[in-house]
Amino acid sequence: TNPELIKKLESTIENIPDFPKPGIQFKDITPIFLNPKLYEEVIEDLANFSRGKIDAVCGIESRGYLFGIAIAVALEVPFILIRKKGKLPPPFVGQKYDLEYGSAEIEMRTGQLQPGERVLIHDDLLATGGTTEAAAKLVEKQGGKVTQFSFLIGLKDLCGTDRLKQFDAEIHQILE
Ligand code: AMP
Repeated sequence: TNPELIKKLESTIENIPDFPKPGIQFKDITPIFLNPKLYEEVIEDLANFSRGKIDAVCGIESRGYLFGIAIAVALEVPFILIRKKGKLPPPFVGQKYDLEYGSAEIEMRTGQLQPGERVLIHDDLLATGGTTEAAAKLVEKQGGKVTQFSFLIGLKDLCGTDRLKQFDAEIHQILE
């Protein structure tokens, strides 16, 4: 990644302490959308990472859509939505995963991903990796091969990349 882009993102993304719960450092990416040139540079960086290496992009609700669609359009490959439970009409497949307290489930329409396709899973931020791991399992259930993960931000302390090692895929985080 271009060091200039890293600097610009560091000064643009806002850190909000103790949101939505005490102890959480919330990374607010929304100021990126006030600067279309910067948004274009982010997409260029993410598209360069995946160019020629994937057949489809899966984006995780909801901030994974904000960049995921643009990556897919730039690379002229399909974009598939991974949604939280209860939002997609049937037919779909689901994958449960554990949260700090309780569990959650994500879903994906069946028939949108073709067996054997190389998939990029994209989200704005990698924290514990629980959500991304569930997304990758969902792709594999559909016969897809997860070959890449990309994020704007990876929170190093939470070791999310450890949970993604099982997929033998490349990982790109613009900011760590
Ligand atoms: P995880 O499953 O722990 O990797 O959580 C990743 C998901 O939660 C991503 O979709 C993020 O958008 C969101 N998330 C987790 N931690 C933060 C944070 N500190 N700031 C902003 N978003 C976060």
